[in-house]
Amino acid sequence: MIAMDESNISFFKDGCRLDGRKADQLRPLKIEVGVLARADGSCYIEMGGNKVIAAVYGPREVHPRHLQEVTRAIVRYRYNMASFSVEERKRPGPDRRSYELSKVSREALEPVILTSYFPRSVIDVFVEVLQADAGTRTAGINAASVALADAGIPMKSLISSCAAGKVADTIVLDPMKEEDNFGQADLPVAMTPNGDITLLQMDGGLSPAELHEAVEMAMNGCRQIYELQRKSLVDKYSQLESLSQVPEQEAEACD
Ligand code: ADP
Repeated sequence: MIAMDESNISFFKDGCRLDGRKADQLRPLKIEVGVLARADGSCYIEMGGNKVIAAVYGPREVHPRHLQEVTRAIVRYRYNMASFSVEERKRPGPDRRSYELSKVSREALEPVILTSYFPRSVIDVFVEVLQADAGTRTAGINAASVALADAGIPMKSLISSCAAGKVADTIVLDPMKEEDNFGQADLPVAMTPNGDITLLQMDGGLSPAELHEAVEMAMNGCRQIYELQRKSLVDKYSQLESLSQVPEQEAEACD
């Protein structure tokens, strides 16, 4: 078997990427709100080949109790990758990577959650990756942010997230798996709609000028994702509003 590395992959064909995108183009994005009946808030997201679901529970009582904070709610975030989400079965259960991703994702969301409204309680966020194609942490953060809003958790704003990368000396938006695994750099970003960055990680190497270009590109991607996050919430809640306005007679006719 030939080991794959950057040197034997051609990342561009006729100026387009392997999946036909331009360098600064996001993968197709789909967001669905309120997909789980038993969660307080939920969201399903597809970002290219990533399929991720987020469920939010709370604010609710903290167990174990010694984790309680008297002045605010604590936020717990569990990122989990299903064993069937990747090509070769992933060993089930938490590992170093999932602990890291849970931590950085929680820290990306916490600054906008008004935790002081709910002292001594917990807001639990569960993110399940059903299918992975690079960028699962960013997809998880996008889904979790919408699920938090769906749960009615007071927040200063939504958080939107996407990565930029470097392949064949070119900065690209929202790298897919081949670009992420065999590229030269990966830079996940999360931010508020005002442009306040809450997550910035880098894997690989970028020059100062490339770093600037990659951050700008990722922030642009976040702005596009924010528009769809907002629209998905507006669509769900405007539908509910119109249902609540169904005249009484019509509603009875459905019984
Ligand atoms: P992210 O998914 O946020 O980009 P990584 O950069 O760590 O996080 O992973 C990139 C991609 O590599 C994942 O989305 C997934 O497709 C693949 N991957 C990660 N961990 C595993 C694993 N344990 N087994 C197989 N593929 C994996």
